[in-house]
Amino acid sequence: LAITAMSGYFGGSCVLYADASSNASPTAVTIKECSNPVDRKKRILVLGSGWAGVSFLKSLDCTLYDVHIISPRNFFVFTPLLPSVTAGTVEARSITESIRKIVLKKQNVKYSQANCMNIDSVNRKVLCRPVADYLEPGKNDFEVEYDYLVIAVGAQANTFNTPGVEKYCHFLKEIEDAEKIRESIVDCFELAALPYLTKEERSQLLHFVTVGGGPTGVEFAAELHDLVYEDLCKLYPDLMPFVNIVVIQSGDHILNTFDQRISHFAEQKFQRDGIEVKTGCRVLEIQQNAIIMKEKSTGKKVEVPHGMVVWSTGIGTRPVIAQFMNQIGQHDRRALVTDEWLRVKGCENVYALGDCATIEQRKLLEDVAYIFTLADKDNSGNLTATEFKEALDSIRERYPQIDLYLKRQHMKDVMKILDDPQTYGEGERILLDVEQFKKALSKVDAQMKALPATAQVAAQQGEYLSRCFNRRKKCEVEPEGPLRVRGDGRHQFHPFVYKHLGQFAPLGGEQAAAELPGDWVSVGRSTQWLWYSVYASKQVSWRTRALVIFDWSKRFIFGRDSSRM
Ligand code: FAD
Repeated sequence: LAITAMSGYFGGSCVLYADASSNASPTAVTIKECSNPVDRKKRILVLGSGWAGVSFLKSLDCTLYDVHIISPRNFFVFTPLLPSVTAGTVEARSITESIRKIVLKKQNVKYSQANCMNIDSVNRKVLCRPVADYLEPGKNDFEVEYDYLVIAVGAQANTFNTPGVEKYCHFLKEIEDAEKIRESIVDCFELAALPYLTKEERSQLLHFVTVGGGPTGVEFAAELHDLVYEDLCKLYPDLMPFVNIVVIQSGDHILNTFDQRISHFAEQKFQRDGIEVKTGCRVLEIQQNAIIMKEKSTGKKVEVPHGMVVWSTGIGTRPVIAQFMNQIGQHDRRALVTDEWLRVKGCENVYALGDCATIEQRKLLEDVAYIFTLADKDNSGNLTATEFKEALDSIRERYPQIDLYLKRQHMKDVMKILDDPQTYGEGERILLDVEQFKKALSKVDAQMKALPATAQVAAQQGEYLSRCFNRRKKCEVEPEGPLRVRGDGRHQFHPFVYKHLGQFAPLGGEQAAAELPGDWVSVGRSTQWLWYSVYASKQVSWRTRALVIFDWSKRFIFGRDSSRM
């Protein structure tokens, strides 16, 4: 069945046949490269159809490669609008686009709806399992060989092994999660409206809790507040006194990855709206109707009732990535470690991007600071011109890409020091204050800390990697990816550099907060309109753009639909 079904995908330069020698599973078929191709195109295997995978595909020149996408989800989801789906502000199908439609106009692109179960980077193949429900798990597994592997499988919700989370909480990661939450909210109201309930039971059912005060938790609380006080209040007026919306946060503030001003604005707005923010509380256990948590300040255990809990405390590693990391000796990390060209460390021709990956660059900066300290032989805090040059040469030898870093816009401070003409003057003591240089480096270091797990990072990485692949001619000479130009030892491709374009936090009641490039902060109604325009423009297709705008307009005119489907 699998062979017949798949063979339709592979015309042209590839053939498909069952490989009896495969040790993955007795029945697994292997999608192989053609053994004797005249002009075989290299196969890029992309795992995942999310932000990173789709952004990679959209910019890739697919005429140069044979591209195969493997993902259990045959559509792309615009995740920033998932909280809006929970409240019915936008419909689920308005923020999804079929992956087949996205690649419709591209040549040489195949898609298989399957989960990657195992990555074998030594033999350059992955084991996949179709997701179709009617298939018997394991019986229809197949293997796909690759020349280049692009891993973009994202991450999964992290429960931190807290008891009861899997059983009693909702996550907000996938489109199904958002739809389940939407149904669950209506269920809570309908149950609370049953005539025989006590006040306590009603109050418990209408106690909505979000664990996690990051952007997702905060946006969900804001959407829920709008749904309740703009729409449900008209349908269930008697139940309004029983409604409670609570955000539990382990840190001291909500939205703590945003500028402090935004964090304070959000807290004050939530206070005005009656959304209770409990900061400094660590959840110990989730029970069927209650949350057990510990207040950090008093050390006391507190019980909070709940009718529904959304767990949104961060992300964890997907099993297939954890297994792969074990194989390649990266077991102590949360995400796959790559270099600045997104190549997975310790593997050939394997790239990782988006939430499942992390770029390692910290060591470089620590090393650079250390080299400068060593160069300061007499510990005077200053270097002579000769010492400085020696140090710089030693850094360049070890890290040829250092100049590229230093030239980045946000490293002007460092450049100022390097460009100081005195620094290069021979002889006398100078000039370069080691402490000052280290201070400048620490600023750089702060910029280069692990990148946030956001769509923005994933999309930029996808675009960057496809640009590298598009420069195919150069890749042919050294096909493992970025080239080293002989002689001066520098990479021909620039390393990936993240450009932060700002971030939004919609806070409900037609108000939003935004952190914009250049340390600008904007809050209020006008920011909400900026949010509408940015999110409409960022949609993956004209269809979803039109649907999202239509849903927003529909909500303005008719309100949200609270029917339980
Ligand atoms: P994903 O987009 O999660 O895609 C992973 C893909 O891999 C999926 O297609 C999945 O089906 C597939 N996959 C999973 N397992 C396998 C497997 N075994 N084999 C093959 N394929 C597999 N970021 C922002 O920048 N701004 C925001 O406003 C914002 N809001 C968010 C709101 C919510 C509710 C959530 C959940 C996230 C939000 N994010 C936001 C974060 C953003 O969605 C993620 O950072 C982004 O999705 C990461 O992209 P990715 O491609 O790495 O992973």
